[in-house]
Amino acid sequence: MAKHPVPKKKTSKARSKRRYGSFKTKTLTKLSEGTKLSICPNCKTKILSHTVCPKCGKYRGRQVINKQKEIDKITKIKA
Ligand SMILES: [Zn+2]
Repeated sequence: MAKHPVPKKKTSKARSKRRYGSFKTKTLTKLSEGTKLSICPNCKTKILSHTVCPKCGKYRGRQVINKQKEIDKITKIKA
């Protein structure tokens, strides 16, 4: 026998979608109400804390996403 708690019934698609739907709206309202945004030390744009800066691709002074490479890729495809 299972010693951990086991759900009696399968969670329906509708039920789980309803649950995660409400979660989505909650996070959206939180963001619109103004979550605490930190400022990127490199380019001084507002970013979510504990995330890589979407503009320069740096996190804690370390280059995580190479933006210049991506730009080169795009220009190479276009040319
Ligand atoms: Zn940045």
